[in-house]
Amino acid sequence: MKEVVFPGSFDPVTNGHLDLIKRALAIFGAVRVVVLTNQTKSGMFPVQKRVQFLKEALKGMKGVRVDCAQGLLANYMKKHKLTTIVRGLRSAHDWNHERTNAYYNQLFNAKLETVFLPAATQYQYISSSAVKEAVAYGADVADLVPTCVAKAFKNAAK
Ligand code: ADP
Repeated sequence: MKEVVFPGSFDPVTNGHLDLIKRALAIFGAVRVVVLTNQTKSGMFPVQKRVQFLKEALKGMKGVRVDCAQGLLANYMKKHKLTTIVRGLRSAHDWNHERTNAYYNQLFNAKLETVFLPAATQYQYISSSAVKEAVAYGADVADLVPTCVAKAFKNAAK
């Protein structure tokens, strides 16, 4: 078993994220999901709410824990003595972005490795931002996000 870190904004968690977490868990045996505060993205849900959604959606899943962090992921990894980051790839656009992240993470902490998992076909068009945009236009996103998130969107629309 090797605990890996799946970092991201998770604003909010989608079924695509959940699929990736389950697949990483099957490979590594332990996954720590870390909600990162991103300087360039202000976000829709407060960090604590994002953590709460993740905890609810992952309830009962052995080997998974949820945390949040600010600042450099490389520093978080060093502090917690963790060395492996998992990220998902939905498209060439993701890859262009991710290889830069992987470069800087290794520059700031030479022990870090990033492992990429391809998005499953049925989830490759799902992103938190697409979900939020659909909701803003009144769409029902119940098939794209866990029940707790769908409920929160429904309540906000009332
Ligand atoms: P960030 O803003 O750091 O990219 P996200 O919450 O958007 O954070 O994504 C976190 C991770 O989840 C990223 O590696 C992203 O590629 C991956 N991811 C997002 N949506 C999906 C999906 N539908 N299928 C697989 N991986 C996904």
